[in-house]
Amino acid sequence: MDNLIKDIDIISGEEAQACDFKTTADDNTGKSRKLYIESYGCQMNFSDSEIVASIMKENGFDTTSDFNQADVIFLNTCSIREKAELTVRKRLTDFNRAKRNKPEMTIGVLGCMAERLKEKLLEEEKIVDVVVGPDAYRDLPNLVSAAEDGNKGVNTFLSREETYADIAPVRLNSNGVSAFISIMRGCDNMCSFCVVPFTRGRERSRDPHSIVAEAQDLFSKGYKEVTLLGQNVDSYKWSPEENNKARLNKKEEEVTEVINFANLLEMVAQVSPTLRVRFSTSHPKDITDEVLYTMKKYDNICKYIHLPVQSGNSRVLELMNRTYDREWYLNRVQAIRDILGDECGISSDMITGFCTETEEEHQDTLTLMDIVKYDFSYMFFYSERPGTLAAKKYEDDIPLEVKKRRLAEVITKQSELSHERNKLDLGKEQLILVDGISKKSDSEYKGRNSANKVVIIPAGDYKIGDYVLVKITDCTPATLFGEIITVNPAF
Ligand code: SAM
Ligand code: SF4
Repeated sequence: MDNLIKDIDIISGEEAQACDFKTTADDNTGKSRKLYIESYGCQMNFSDSEIVASIMKENGFDTTSDFNQADVIFLNTCSIREKAELTVRKRLTDFNRAKRNKPEMTIGVLGCMAERLKEKLLEEEKIVDVVVGPDAYRDLPNLVSAAEDGNKGVNTFLSREETYADIAPVRLNSNGVSAFISIMRGCDNMCSFCVVPFTRGRERSRDPHSIVAEAQDLFSKGYKEVTLLGQNVDSYKWSPEENNKARLNKKEEEVTEVINFANLLEMVAQVSPTLRVRFSTSHPKDITDEVLYTMKKYDNICKYIHLPVQSGNSRVLELMNRTYDREWYLNRVQAIRDILGDECGISSDMITGFCTETEEEHQDTLTLMDIVKYDFSYMFFYSERPGTLAAKKYEDDIPLEVKKRRLAEVITKQSELSHERNKLDLGKEQLILVDGISKKSDSEYKGRNSANKVVIIPAGDYKIGDYVLVKITDCTPATLFGEIITVNPAF
């Protein structure tokens, strides 16, 4: 999940579905034309917008924060829940006036909604000129130029190879401290509720050498933290013979230097002991002990795992096609505790009111939460998505009020657990990386500890991007408060 969403530590379905977006900032490098991008949804989308900005910069565009000034407006969209799509459609109407004032303006819909709706989007939304799916961003300059000549265009070709490995992203909304690095694209899992395999295509892993080079480049520019991104990072797999899993049809003995996720994590951790490494998302069926031991070996790999469970009931998990059950999940959590200890942060995604979920099965989610004691969770009620396995096979039979009531119970439970977990940090010394000024007061700064929790500290003799050793003195369910012990302690 993105910084913006992560700042809301406990996020309800309602909040998530309100669908916050990020816009481009002003970037003046002397290009003649202006691009405005609004990005919705997950971190992968924000990361993709940085690739889009890079492609467009090569073709004469600087970014702007004011869509009225733009020659081109892109909405990089999300389809994960119905509300996300409705928000984008509503937002398109806001651009009507801008386009009336500047008829030569080009408006593009990119990302998952573009991939899902294809030509239909051009028919339904007259204001849209180009529709481009997640694997076709290299074609954007051509499509924009054709649109400027009056020819609307669609490219929703899904690739088995595209990883944009050679494109240096233009960092958007950057705090200069933390950056995302996309390590793979697509998803080969077929969770029955999820639209992602249809909108982002087959899973493929990016060349690890280009990932390490990107981390080195960021570090040389002063960044202190990278987050390796993928829908299922634990199934990362790359070999030089065939540079992605989808094409891996050679015999095992013919393939040399297979890099798995644990290997990649180690390679990135070795860039510098002062570069923090995070990753998201882990899939409970794939996370290995090898990954956990690699995390243990390197102090700079943050002790935090986002391990979405979705439901605590094995029958519901089977209907969701998650390919693990409650026992398997709890066994993986035990492995995390055994190898990384109690201080490792664990978070989850939850869906309430999936097809046929009974009250008892919903209770299983609450009891599982009590056992795992998540530090925080992203919580949603089920939203049926056209074309998914669940939409084809199961009836969306749980009334909305019941889904929402169950969601409220899950949110209340998470709030209690977050507070309980945060109280365990009281009195402890923790190293935080300062990443900004506190939203509530200019005289306070905020940073994150290894477990990904926000820690507020008083201003002092340090700046954004410094490491500060703090003692935790107070907490709420969402935030820790600390006092400064040392600035930039020796590693
Ligand atoms: N790849 C990640 C994983 O498997 O955990 C999740 C990626 S998805 C973009 C983020 C979250 O959205 C999911 O974990 C799930 O909780 C939620 N989600 C996906 N489809 C949904 C749906 N149809 N209704 C409600 N929530 C959904
Ligand atoms: Fe969707 Fe499942 Fe893939 Fe996550 S692992 S993106 S929930 S299909």
